[in-house]
Amino acid sequence: MAEIYDVVIIGGGPAGLTAGLYSGRARLKTLMLEKATTGGQAATTDHIENYPGFPEGIGGFELTEKMKQQATQFGMEIHEIKPVTAIDLDGDIKVISSEDEQFRTRAVIVASGAEPRTLGVPGEAEFRGRGVSYCATCDGAFYKDKAVAVIGGGNSAAEEANFLTRFASKVYLVHRRDELRADKILQERVLGNEKVEIIWDSHLKKVLGDGKVEEIVVENKSTHERTSYQVDGVFFYIGTVPNTGFCEGLVELDDREFIITDERLQSSVPGIFACGDCRANLLKQVSVAVGEGALAAVEAEKYIEDL
Ligand code: NAP
Repeated sequence: MAEIYDVVIIGGGPAGLTAGLYSGRARLKTLMLEKATTGGQAATTDHIENYPGFPEGIGGFELTEKMKQQATQFGMEIHEIKPVTAIDLDGDIKVISSEDEQFRTRAVIVASGAEPRTLGVPGEAEFRGRGVSYCATCDGAFYKDKAVAVIGGGNSAAEEANFLTRFASKVYLVHRRDELRADKILQERVLGNEKVEIIWDSHLKKVLGDGKVEEIVVENKSTHERTSYQVDGVFFYIGTVPNTGFCEGLVELDDREFIITDERLQSSVPGIFACGDCRANLLKQVSVAVGEGALAAVEAEKYIEDL
């Protein structure tokens, strides 16, 4: 019979790492399952300046590495796993499965985060990894003295457009409206950045190239006029989709597939909790994920005590 954990945390971003810290300190036998390296989306953020305690800002990778160190020093184990495919119930025990492994636990904390949404325009899939990217921190340095485009108008698009100007000679920011959604401070920076040209009221129609990205075609929403821009890279920041496929049919999800919880962060299934970007919450921020991770772990502890 496989050993039974008290808490298994699915996902190793800030929410999961904080849940692991609290769960470890509660002396619960805690396992974190992560399909890639820990840190989640925050780890691919070059610079985080709205996480309290770091007035100079801190690198996303550095911050999440510290979180990992803190959680493991209180006993949380980490196991690299193929993507989780299902959670099944065996009485009070939850069985978490991937393609080739199973884990048994009393409580589950789903902290599986979200991943970049794809736009689905011609050329996007074809040139992925050959000029199409979803991570400026990972790929930005390849575009030294080149022109790139960023698609989107939210915090990620504004932040990463600014970041890319460290390398690129020109950044076209293509946004579908005449106003950015990003926080005001990020708007100010992007609007004041000489290397950024905003293409307002426009949709990306296609990405073209020969083996790698060479050009984008953008259409103005009102005039329907199409314009081509010569670029070497296109970075998509049009929002995120939650990693909750393995919860379908088990816990209640909202219409965008985020996990619905009560105020104790318990999902519709007792003993399964959710926190961070995969949860139907109002704000996707590292500071929120951290708070939710702490609460989920404390509530998981109470749930186990009551069993
Ligand atoms: P987001 O806030 O949802 O913004 C997505 C942007 O893409 C919006 O400007 C949206 O346009 C545009 N968009 C969506 N679908 C589109 C489509 N089909 N075609 C063209 N444009 C489309 O997503 P995000 O910027 O990726 O951020 C995700 C979450 O993380 C947000 O909650 C964000 O606040 C948070 N975040 C925070 C920070 C920070 O605090 N520094 C940094 C990064 C991310 P509309 O504006 O017209 O809807």
